Amino acid sequence: MPGTGNISSPPFIFGGFSLNCFTFALTLRGIARIVAAAMRKWLTSVVLCICSAVCLSNCSAPRGTAEGPVVLDIGHCVGAGGARTPRAVNGKRLQELDWWYEYVGYTKKVIEDAGYKVYVCNRGDEPEREPLATWAEQADVDHLGEPDTGHRYPSDYYGDRVASGMVSADYAISRKASCAVFLHHNSERGWRRRGGSKSLIICNRYNGDRLAECLASALNTKVLNHGMPNGGIECKVQVRCKDATRAAGWMNACDDSGIPAAVVEAAFLNNRRHALYLSNPATARHYAETIGHGIVDYLRRYGNEPRHYREDTDTPDCGSFGYAAESRRIRVPGADNLWED
Ligand SMILES: [Zn+2]
Repeated sequence: MPGTGNISSPPFIFGGFSLNCFTFALTLRGIARIVAAAMRKWLTSVVLCICSAVCLSNCSAPRGTAEGPVVLDIGHCVGAGGARTPRAVNGKRLQELDWWYEYVGYTKKVIEDAGYKVYVCNRGDEPEREPLATWAEQADVDHLGEPDTGHRYPSDYYGDRVASGMVSADYAISRKASCAVFLHHNSERGWRRRGGSKSLIICNRYNGDRLAECLASALNTKVLNHGMPNGGIECKVQVRCKDATRAAGWMNACDDSGIPAAVVEAAFLNNRRHALYLSNPATARHYAETIGHGIVDYLRRYGNEPRHYREDTDTPDCGSFGYAAESRRIRVPGADNLWED
């Protein structure tokens, strides 16, 4: 720009033909100095550009830290409450959503009593019906107002991570959570007549295994086959395949931000013994508190371990875009190329 002392176009004057060797050498040295200064300035701006580009792609999403809060997500939402018991148990049909609204406060309290901050969220709208409304208030649930029912959409932070329920993962990321636990129950068709169920803690690929192990261990020592019969079958940890076409694709977004995440699928609502255990207020509370103890155990033992962050957020991987058709519909850049290869 004119008038700003632009050193990239220095005056190039040799002082005519009377130039002797001495002044010629001085002039050369001056030119060299000017060129070096220009190069330095140019290099500095290139380096700054590269730094800010790297920062924009990698630092724009908040990252989970050991100091962050625990995020507890009540699975499903008002209008689509998840699995139910096939029939009433103790006069009531249990459903995932209602059950966790009622008992999440006990999980939260155990973690708070251990000195950690906790946020509870649900992806849907605030419940109006009682007693859900009261329970929601007691646990101070943040309602995220995305009561999607199967519809998939991208993360606000990682555009290639596409899944239903993504809003809860984004919430954990926005809170820079130390970890996120997604509260569910499992179910199969019809009543299970005998034997145990395949209790699971599902975790995200890079950050979640320690969290899942602590949750499974707490359940195995205090609940499963210890009051809640399960035919001797223990709760297992399943590290989630990163593949975006599988369920719980939002776990990848947590992983990108270095947030250990786990889905609790340990109790089966179609297992009559599990359902009986969950329908009794005292044992139900114990179940919810045990989840809290598992989380505290994780934070104390492993909360400060280094986290895995996704460095290259510009290159799609097998965890990108969810379902191809869906990705094309919402026009995520790069989705077409990835799936046509
Ligand atoms: Zn569920």
